[in-house]
Amino acid sequence: MNKNVRVNLADFSLGKLEAFFGTLNEKPFRARQVLKWIHQRGVTNFDQMTDLSKSLRDALKSTAEVKLPSVIDHHASADGSRKWIIQVESGSSVEMVFIPEGSRGTLCISSQAGCSLDCSFCATGKQGFNSNLTTGEIIGQLWLANAELGAFATETHRISNVVMMGMGEPLLNFDNVMDALSLMMCDFSYGLSKRKVTISTSGVVPAIDRLKDYTDASLAISLHAPNDELRSQLVPLNKKFPIDVLLKSVQGYMRSLGDRRVAVIEYTLIAGINDHRQHARELAVLLKTFPCKINLIPFNPFLQSDYTRPSNTSVANFRKILQEAGFTVTVRTTRADDIGAACGQLVGQVLDKTRRSSRYSQGTMNLISSDL
Ligand code: SAH
Ligand code: SF4
Repeated sequence: MNKNVRVNLADFSLGKLEAFFGTLNEKPFRARQVLKWIHQRGVTNFDQMTDLSKSLRDALKSTAEVKLPSVIDHHASADGSRKWIIQVESGSSVEMVFIPEGSRGTLCISSQAGCSLDCSFCATGKQGFNSNLTTGEIIGQLWLANAELGAFATETHRISNVVMMGMGEPLLNFDNVMDALSLMMCDFSYGLSKRKVTISTSGVVPAIDRLKDYTDASLAISLHAPNDELRSQLVPLNKKFPIDVLLKSVQGYMRSLGDRRVAVIEYTLIAGINDHRQHARELAVLLKTFPCKINLIPFNPFLQSDYTRPSNTSVANFRKILQEAGFTVTVRTTRADDIGAACGQLVGQVLDKTRRSSRYSQGTMNLISSDL
């Protein structure tokens, strides 16, 4: 390893930080101290970590750094929502959004710049894949939001919920996402409840199968269709991992949690495609024995898509059929319209590896289950 390259302590979960301090012949409790400095007090300068000895601070200065992504743009909505555009190392930018709702504050964050899975209704998918975010870039979104919201200075933490529903497929960036999740839930960093941290996945079954060995976060599944034929058109990954295999895998994870949480089924409603009453009835049959809550997301239009959003009546009818079949159903409301912070409206700049003619292509980040 190049000796001049400093390790980035923002990339380390508690376990990895303890191992790092082991290499410096320091005790594991140093890791807890440093995590508190970085993630609870927002301190990235080793000189300000006053409960570390001078010699340890010097050792850290020569071997390590705390590097976080930077905010390159910021918008505040009249309804209190905030959106930040964040520059990541690969040259792309991603977005995150904070939605306050009474005592709750939900932060929607990204896991990748772009996405390789190309779901037909998703603008992130349209721009292809650029890079996996590092652990520091994923947890760094939480750090930056706390800094921007004044949480480090005032010790009032307004982020109560985190949803991995921004750009990218979290389970295709498995290791970095797992370390970031563990930092979100660790008492020495953000200390969020496992109930309030949600991974959203389009259904990467092998990753869901091993999820229980790494985390106990809540899980949302992007289903979007009641049968394989339609789902394969909307979510191409379904051709590899069809609905029955996916639901079985999700059930395995939910059972492993050993509590009363159920999976959230996300269903983006697209006019004339998957929003007929018949689809709702078919969905009710499909999920009859599958413990879940259903979150309906009216499609958010974007430039490169011919799909349209269903009418409110059609959304209400779809919901009613499911409710009458006994399901708990929420409809995701669009917030922060004035800053373009709803599903499918957020735009990141992804350095495009596939289309060389233009340096950047526009991308979209999708939000937000404030009602998860
Ligand atoms: N890759 C993950 C997480 C990011 S997408 C996943 O697919 O689950 C977060 C949610 O936004 C998903 O449920 C996705 O289907 C939905 N979504 C994407 N584009 C949308 C759009 N234009 N309108 C409404 N919902 C959209
Ligand atoms: Fe990727 Fe999720 Fe968009 Fe599908 S919906 S392309 S998995 S970000």
